[in-house]
Amino acid sequence: MRVLLFSIMLIFMGGVVQAKNLLGLPDELTQGGFYVGKVAADSKLWLGDQKLKLSPEGYFAFGLNWKQGGMVKFRLLDAKGAEYPQRLTVSKQKYDVQHIDGLPPKMVTPPREVLNRIKADSTRVKKARTTDSDRQDFRRDFIWPVRGRISGKFGNHRILNGTPKSPHTGMDIAAPTGTPIMAPLGGEVTMVSDLYYTGNTLIIDHGFGVSTVFAHMNTVTVRMGQHIRQGDKIGTVGATGRATGPHLHWGLNWYKERLNPELVLGSD
Ligand SMILES: [Zn+2]
Repeated sequence: MRVLLFSIMLIFMGGVVQAKNLLGLPDELTQGGFYVGKVAADSKLWLGDQKLKLSPEGYFAFGLNWKQGGMVKFRLLDAKGAEYPQRLTVSKQKYDVQHIDGLPPKMVTPPREVLNRIKADSTRVKKARTTDSDRQDFRRDFIWPVRGRISGKFGNHRILNGTPKSPHTGMDIAAPTGTPIMAPLGGEVTMVSDLYYTGNTLIIDHGFGVSTVFAHMNTVTVRMGQHIRQGDKIGTVGATGRATGPHLHWGLNWYKERLNPELVLGSD
């Protein structure tokens, strides 16, 4: 009996462990989540139709859309060309939705005279987020860029006069003006700019399409192209741009996908 139980356990564990071993990922992923996995060196890997960049050791990174459906499919080809399809389930995140009706139209759409500026801002941000470097800072654990109350959550959105506005693309951490902000991971500065909505804004590349963005900063103490280490001071908290009070808006991206930074932070 003991032998039988033991072999059943082995079979069961074997099944679970195998999935983990092939991609190095948890069995269940979550909407807006960021993941680092590992496959055997010299493999090839696709997430849906998108080929994933692999380090020489087989590490890869990816993120899931905030509204990702319940399943993602991977296709793994080992060095000999054998194919291993992998399916992982994706759990739903809860987002707050606020309906506001009867607003004057000018409050729903920004004034005409700033439209060109907003367009130019968005082009700069997009360009920084397409950076595709080989650095592997993303493999370390993130640290909080600043400590404080979470005053805005990723994915919350408003429906103004029936029109869904874009979801909140990061997390807001409330802290007094002048509070130092630390680099949550090492990387290279790919954008420093004063933008209409987000004020003094900084983007850091952490490799393989992973970047973080810092908005409404009072001061930025690093320059474009500067290499920084995890924990280095990069500036201070402020309320520049369209902000109602001092806080850090912190965003996490995988290429053009905006991810939930709260999910990569430990609770302490
Ligand atoms: Zn925000």
